[in-house]
Amino acid sequence: MRAVVIHAPKDLRIEDFPDPAPGAGEVRVGIEAGGICGSDLHYYHHGGFGTVRIQQPMALGHEIAGVVAAVGEGVRHLSPGMRVAVNPSQPCGVCVHCREGMRNQCLDMRFMGSAMRNPHVQGGFRKHVTVAAAQAVPIADRLSLAEAAMAEPLAVCLHAANQAGQLMGKRVLVTGCGPIGALMVLVARYAGAAEIVVTDVADAPLAVARSLGASQVFNVAARPAAIDPWRAGKGVFDVLFEASGNQAALRLAFDLVRPGAVIVQLGLGGEMTLPVNSIVTKELKLRGTFRFDGEFELALRLMGEGRLDVKPLITASLPFERAVEAFELASDRSKSMKVQLTF
Ligand code: ZN
Repeated sequence: MRAVVIHAPKDLRIEDFPDPAPGAGEVRVGIEAGGICGSDLHYYHHGGFGTVRIQQPMALGHEIAGVVAAVGEGVRHLSPGMRVAVNPSQPCGVCVHCREGMRNQCLDMRFMGSAMRNPHVQGGFRKHVTVAAAQAVPIADRLSLAEAAMAEPLAVCLHAANQAGQLMGKRVLVTGCGPIGALMVLVARYAGAAEIVVTDVADAPLAVARSLGASQVFNVAARPAAIDPWRAGKGVFDVLFEASGNQAALRLAFDLVRPGAVIVQLGLGGEMTLPVNSIVTKELKLRGTFRFDGEFELALRLMGEGRLDVKPLITASLPFERAVEAFELASDRSKSMKVQLTF
């Protein structure tokens, strides 16, 4: 079986990969669609992010969906031919954080296509993956497998919205409009936000945000002054979703949010300097958000019931043999929102 494997920065290969038969409680899924995520791009361009580095060859990919090919002993809720999204997250279920209901903070997490563990957990950009049956979640008939492969990033955004609390009637600012920022627009709209303003430093992603229902969009690189009306008084936004991981974006947003606002930081930005005085005097609530838990099933349900339409985000789909081309395309923000591989 073939897979898309990263060896070193800019060294992405299509190569043979082991294909074990499913053991007890496991299923083999024939992958059909796989979305390229920002973290896949970090492995491709830089060999990792922060302190996480590739130590050995690793199949990339954790936004995947496909068709059940075989089931192992004891698996009753799945059968060959069923269409599923694969949840890349496999918490241990028994550590202190799993037991207190924060499974995304598992001390022994196995997350597909992540080099955080050593040896790394192999990713899902391959013809087949064998996973625990609980990771294969059946999808609605109306959903394409391309849409189902969006369940993972959508789950990230649903989790972020849960960190923010009530969004009904709120004024929301989203900084950074990659796929995560764009999905935040969808989620905030669904959750009842009265106004959703989006900033980025490129025009193409902002046009997508507009089509997804953003009230206003601003290119803060081209027209930094355009945002000034939002500085009125002590700032106007009730909630900020910071999805760029860029210090300048977060710094700017501190002037735009109102006293008592909730700031949800989604973007990973390494070390940032924060205006602590603003946090103190405006009584801001700074919250992190990391991955997801039950939101994966919720994402599939909301898409499956036609409540959230992620199709406008999928800007290209290339056969996995052209992975290098696809990764380069996904890196070009003037052309791409979400690029997927087909298998
Ligand atoms: Zn655990």
